[in-house]
Amino acid sequence: MQRTFILLKPDCVQRRLMGQVIARFEAKGLNFVAMRMLQITPELAKKHYAEHVEKGWYPMLEGFITGGPVVAAVVEGLDAVRVVREMLGATNGLQAAPGTIRGDYSSSQQMNLVHGSDSLESAAREIALYFADEQVCSYEPTITKWMHAANE
Ligand code: ADP
Ligand code: MG
Repeated sequence: MQRTFILLKPDCVQRRLMGQVIARFEAKGLNFVAMRMLQITPELAKKHYAEHVEKGWYPMLEGFITGGPVVAAVVEGLDAVRVVREMLGATNGLQAAPGTIRGDYSSSQQMNLVHGSDSLESAAREIALYFADEQVCSYEPTITKWMHAANE
């Protein structure tokens, strides 16, 4: 069982796609164990996107990600880091495969609706940026026995 970090970006909130995106993750079998709405500050943006701060397009990204409310969430599931990334699709919505979230809803490299951690290490770092330990509510859904076999 892994935990990963998901961020519904400002375009997702503004376009009223939050429900559709959350429904996809739930239908797949991922458990939401933490969620909150916030407006990202430039300071938090620089921490979240530390690997991109030096890039020429970072100021555009910071303007976008701080430009409206977002929803931060933690999901749990088998192989959750990889599963979420594959559900998101390629970074650029114009290149993301149909059937992925970005492929189905985004026509942009920047406005691609949802962030997902790219490794277990990133997931731990990003979860800690947005949530205190006690804000993550781990639980065993009663439906689990119908989502995967006991030995999976
Ligand atoms: P991913 O979110 O798929 O891991 P990256 O880590 O490459 O993608 O980039 C982080 C985010 O920065 C992207 O999701 C996207 O919103 C934005 N972004 C990526 N490339 C560009 C670019 N060339 N210009 C503007 N924004 C970009
Ligand atoms: Mg990335």
